[in-house]
Amino acid sequence: MAQKCVFLDRDGVLNADRVDYVYKVEDLKVKKGVAEALQKLHNNGFLLVVITNQSGIDKGIFTEKDVANVHSEIQNQTGNFIKEFYFSPYHRTLTASLSTKPGSLLFEKAIAKYNIDVSQSWMIGDRFRDLIPAQKVGIKGILVENDYNETSDSYYSKDLLSAVDTYILGS
Ligand SMILES: [Mg+2]
Repeated sequence: MAQKCVFLDRDGVLNADRVDYVYKVEDLKVKKGVAEALQKLHNNGFLLVVITNQSGIDKGIFTEKDVANVHSEIQNQTGNFIKEFYFSPYHRTLTASLSTKPGSLLFEKAIAKYNIDVSQSWMIGDRFRDLIPAQKVGIKGILVENDYNETSDSYYSKDLLSAVDTYILGS
């Protein structure tokens, strides 16, 4: 049976973003309401998949191991509800890759692996570049409040929990 899924951007959605990248566990600040939001989605039968650009790897600032450690800590702090973390290690100025958002390759991989029903699925991001690849593969996108002055007339929420309550679960 096809699976409904909520795709999640990481930095700025699950955790507070930092100009200098989030790659140390001690710099990780999971945002308010995230654990509750993920639990609600899980309880309502949504698969949870993170798709994140981690271009600092390509730039030599941190390693895949650092990224894995941060992802384990996100799981620890939010109840282990995330099925898989996909990340693109490439920086667009160094390595062109369809994996890097707004490329849609990592979405396509997840859709194939988990037999995801795009018509019942959502992407939540804090940049338009998170929503562009989702739209390309037929997934509705929700933009959350961000520091980039990016806003949307369609699906726009203060944060993850509000997006879940307003649009995805509609309560
Ligand atoms: Mg982000």
